Amino acid sequence: MIYTIEMLIEKIKSLDKSYDIEKIKAAYELADKAHEGVVRTSGDPYISHPVAVAYILVEKFSMDTDTICAALLHDVVEDTDIGLDVLQKKFGEDVARLVDGVTKISRVPLNTREEQQAENIRKILIAMSKDLRVIIIKLADRLHNMRTLDCRPPEKQCKTSLETMNFYAPIAHRLGISDVKEEMEDLSLRYLDPFGFKDIEQQLELHKDERDAFIEKIKSMITDRISDIQPPPIIEGRVKSIYSIYKKVYVKGKNFSEIYDIYAVRVILQSVIECYNVLGIIHDIFRPMPYRFKDYIAMPKPNRYQSLHTTVIGREGIPFEVQIRTVEMHNTAQYGIAAHWKYKAGVQGNVAGEKRFDWIRQLLEQQQEADDVEQLSEAIKIDLAPDDVYVFTPKGDVITLPVGANIIDFAYAIHTQVGNHMTGAKVGGRMVPLDHKLVTGEIVEILTTNSENYGPNRNWGDIARTNEAKAKIRAWFKRERREENVECGMLLLEKEIRRNGLTHDDELLLQIAHRQRLNTVEDLYAAIGYGGVQLSKIVTRLKEEHIKQQKLMQANQPVDVEETISRFSKKAQGSGVILDGIDDCVVNFAQCCTPLPGDEIIGFITRGYGVKIHKCDCRNVAIGLESENKDRWIKAQWAGSMSSFFRATIDIIAEDRTALIADVTTLISANRLPIYEINAHKLKNGNANITVTVEVSGVEQLKNIIARLQKVAGVISAERTGKF
Ligand code: MN
Repeated sequence: MIYTIEMLIEKIKSLDKSYDIEKIKAAYELADKAHEGVVRTSGDPYISHPVAVAYILVEKFSMDTDTICAALLHDVVEDTDIGLDVLQKKFGEDVARLVDGVTKISRVPLNTREEQQAENIRKILIAMSKDLRVIIIKLADRLHNMRTLDCRPPEKQCKTSLETMNFYAPIAHRLGISDVKEEMEDLSLRYLDPFGFKDIEQQLELHKDERDAFIEKIKSMITDRISDIQPPPIIEGRVKSIYSIYKKVYVKGKNFSEIYDIYAVRVILQSVIECYNVLGIIHDIFRPMPYRFKDYIAMPKPNRYQSLHTTVIGREGIPFEVQIRTVEMHNTAQYGIAAHWKYKAGVQGNVAGEKRFDWIRQLLEQQQEADDVEQLSEAIKIDLAPDDVYVFTPKGDVITLPVGANIIDFAYAIHTQVGNHMTGAKVGGRMVPLDHKLVTGEIVEILTTNSENYGPNRNWGDIARTNEAKAKIRAWFKRERREENVECGMLLLEKEIRRNGLTHDDELLLQIAHRQRLNTVEDLYAAIGYGGVQLSKIVTRLKEEHIKQQKLMQANQPVDVEETISRFSKKAQGSGVILDGIDDCVVNFAQCCTPLPGDEIIGFITRGYGVKIHKCDCRNVAIGLESENKDRWIKAQWAGSMSSFFRATIDIIAEDRTALIADVTTLISANRLPIYEINAHKLKNGNANITVTVEVSGVEQLKNIIARLQKVAGVISAERTGKF
């Protein structure tokens, strides 16, 4: 498609903003003349490119007059004999400076070699920090080049795509412009891995009609339930970007059918309280998937992204993600920093004074202080290389770790003996838990003991993120703790067997042991105990065997929602319940009374769903014991030693105020309790009612968090409820 000046002007006029159309036309005429006779590889006149770039800037970001002029003129200085002085005289200093900035970025050779990468990004950032509009023009320029890359020779396609993937998409991401980032990634992937791209595209195409119908149905179900909200919410349904699916299939090695967030539905509302209300309604319509709820409203991502995310299961058993956010959050999510121009009328020029661009100001300040180019380059590399964190020992040595690494990784990165003898750690002089996620710049001091018998804790292997730390912890256990390993491995395996509804089969376990080059079942337990054999692999083998036997016994059974949940839920609850006279049975907890360890309990044998545990004083138990099914109730008690987690719902009444929900969620997160669900609504008397479902290890922990919640400003009452 060829963009013309007429289309551009028409688009500008359709916006509700004031533009200097004469100035834009003059910029066009100068550029048109300067590029006269030049054609692009596609055969289109060259001027169609700057016009298209200007069009993108208007269409996507509603950028201001000077930016549009600079976009029209962006290749003039580079490609023709018209100088900056001419532009300055005719269009003013701002336009000249923008064109100069874009030209300078284009001259930066984007070699993809690692050591050059930081230097190049540094140059880009310096250009950007003077005036962000430079980088937004450059992103639009690159986006149009990517859209028209088909006409270029193959080696050029590859080089340009690689640059886009490595430099421009990350910069768009860092600025929060996800709209451009996603399009750039998808376009680059098309050239970088055409087969992979086609593969995903075809798989998506395969069931397009069903998929569209699926999304439409969900949208209408949600619409029906929230039709009373005014003004009406915007509900969008879509399939996620090809590159995000590609990463899951090709990088994480998932099967296409295993990716359950291909679909996403968005609900866009006016206020934060509406967001939490709608979350409650969504969880009422669809079954939420455990552990898939994320509250980025209370805790925004580093690039300012805010939203509630939850994954739920549709009627057909197909899971999909729902994102709930306000209009403002939505604008920031799509356009990031550029939302500034799009949604604020009359804003001109530099935005470094704005509070929400703090990180850019920090960069600028670093730039002024750091005369040393090396130091600056390092600072910027850290800021733009999202894969590593750089932390320091008290002596000032730098330890490089992957993002997400914690104290345990740090200790083992210093020395194996430091890790094995660690008793605790301080960050910036204060004690922190061992799973403290390290952030670039932190100074970490590891406290150790000289005691000979001391060693790592068994759960450290799960907490550690680096393979190095995990391997060292495993090695220690393998060497030091045979008996413990056997016992621990056996417990773990038995728990998995029960959780998956499998049966213990010594003969089969021996076969599996032999396949792992282990002599006995006890050796297998030991290997599981110290982590030398992956428990999940063993369980998969057992499951395969189980399925084989089941298939022999019966024909296909329909899939049900319960099954889907247990299949997808990574962290299904361990039961921790001992039943009278029954072994190897799936146990789950009644939602009417949600029992917790410490409560008196009783079990009910369901048809096909294992044993359901109720509190003895539950209303349903009283009714049930009277009914014709009274024989199906069995004695149950808590297994004292097992550490498992349980869900409890807390009901909070509070005076309504801003940030109330944020304070509640922050408090719970600060106490390291996973939030499973949170709902909020306004009561008729003006107070707010929040119900939050958390995971706790027992009654004590629950009492503790309730006591803390009662102290939150404005909270009138906080108590545990029996109901979900
Ligand atoms: Mn260009």
